[in-house]
Amino acid sequence: MTGNKLCIHGHFYQPPREDPWMDTIFPEGSAAPATHWNERICAESYAPLAWARRLDDQGRIIEIMNCYEYMSFNFGPTLLTWMEHQAPDVYARVLEGDRSSLARLGHGNAIAQIYHHVIMPLATDLDKRAEIAWALADFEARFGRGAEGLWLSEAAVDTRTLDLLAQAGVRFTILAPRQAREVADVAQNNWTAANEGNLDIREPYLVELPEGRSIAVYFYDGPLSQAVAFEGLLRHGDVFWGRLSGMAAQGGGKGLLALATDGETYGHHFKFGEMALAFALSQARAGEQNVALTNYAAYLAENPPKRRVRIHENSSWSCAHGVERWRADCGCATEHRPGWNQRWRGPLRDGLNAVKARIDQHYLALGQSLYADAEAALIGYGRVLSGLDEPEAFAAAHFKPKLAPAQKDTAWKLLTMQKWALSSFASCAWFFDDLGRIEPLNALTFALRAMQLGQRTGMEDLEPLLLSYVGQATSNDPALGSGHDLWTHEVRPRRESTETILAQALIHLWAEGRLPAPGGGASVHCRGCRSASA
Ligand SMILES: [Zn+2]
Repeated sequence: MTGNKLCIHGHFYQPPREDPWMDTIFPEGSAAPATHWNERICAESYAPLAWARRLDDQGRIIEIMNCYEYMSFNFGPTLLTWMEHQAPDVYARVLEGDRSSLARLGHGNAIAQIYHHVIMPLATDLDKRAEIAWALADFEARFGRGAEGLWLSEAAVDTRTLDLLAQAGVRFTILAPRQAREVADVAQNNWTAANEGNLDIREPYLVELPEGRSIAVYFYDGPLSQAVAFEGLLRHGDVFWGRLSGMAAQGGGKGLLALATDGETYGHHFKFGEMALAFALSQARAGEQNVALTNYAAYLAENPPKRRVRIHENSSWSCAHGVERWRADCGCATEHRPGWNQRWRGPLRDGLNAVKARIDQHYLALGQSLYADAEAALIGYGRVLSGLDEPEAFAAAHFKPKLAPAQKDTAWKLLTMQKWALSSFASCAWFFDDLGRIEPLNALTFALRAMQLGQRTGMEDLEPLLLSYVGQATSNDPALGSGHDLWTHEVRPRRESTETILAQALIHLWAEGRLPAPGGGASVHCRGCRSASA
């Protein structure tokens, strides 16, 4: 394939919103007229990208494009799980986009994403391995093939994470240009300092890892990606295309112009942004301006790295201070909130870490009598969650022989406990400006669910431990008070009881429009998505 190669990547992600007892999403008033934000953003972005309109000069529709066929993308497992059940037609277009790109390029457009979108450098080694294994199992179950690339949450990276990716068979990831520390040619020691200004982002780089392993890293075009996100480049399709094709031509037929964008930019942040994207993709697809569309995996197969890179440890794409945004008062996210601080981030991180450490201890101690290898069971559990392995086959492979029914029940409970404990580390809990937001409260709710499952399997109540940290934190909103207040008023009441299960079941039915009504039908579809796709 010749021409100036172009790859547009979309990172599609929503914070986990499930109620951990019902495993369903309750209504979120701020998302009106949609029931909750997954549904709203699906209607505004994910569905429009799946059926993006291309118009002629008279405004008549000349094509309905599935953008997922022509752009590189990753969706998180938790978001795809929701989409599979609540927006199945959009979900089908996503899968179809990967399949047709695989047929066209020999490599599919989809790449995997860290399972719970945790900040990998801040995770324990066991959690890192579980998050990667679960992500790859989920990808394989959905796309019917192994993932070649993987999107690291917030592009947060350290060498250990890259090594675990390489060990799991992942061939590449994508980072921001400022995450490169120094570069050299392969097999030479001409290391020179790298920065955003001098880094050649048009070729993949090799990161050398212990024991001879390696992984390729792409750096996206920073200014162009910024322009899509913040400078209104999507307002006009021809302006967007002009910029893309002009930049691609600067490579003179060599290298790859790649940009990384939040997928929600198209349609949700910028109304009709999906139409600008579809226009640019259609021009590139037609080979206009000598541009040739490709994806990361296809390019890598033809262009193995000629240069090496050493990365900045514990760096990310959305915090200039490394990974401090997810554990400290670094200043990110409150630029527009004079007088606010993020001193709550440290206690939230420390509290959840303390809970997870105790949960791991409980899991490993009790797991000795239940699993052939407790760590291997945890790593392998993602294959059950994804549907790759039947529970019975998993139990036969990982449980000790001749467990009593009550022991089997405990073995499953411990794995579910770990699932919710991992969920509590989804990066969005720390990303925004306050402890009182729904994301940190959801993280604490997931931890509560994990703690409750721990208690049911003989662990002590970890609430005092968690509150010894989180209780110290305070919201910037005096009306919301301390972490202790938020826990008491917002989190603890969600704890399961017979009454709350009944109440939640009713809310669940109401949210899905399945409450019995005289003469009423039943519907479980994503309203917004279906109307957008009609
Ligand atoms: Zn920061």
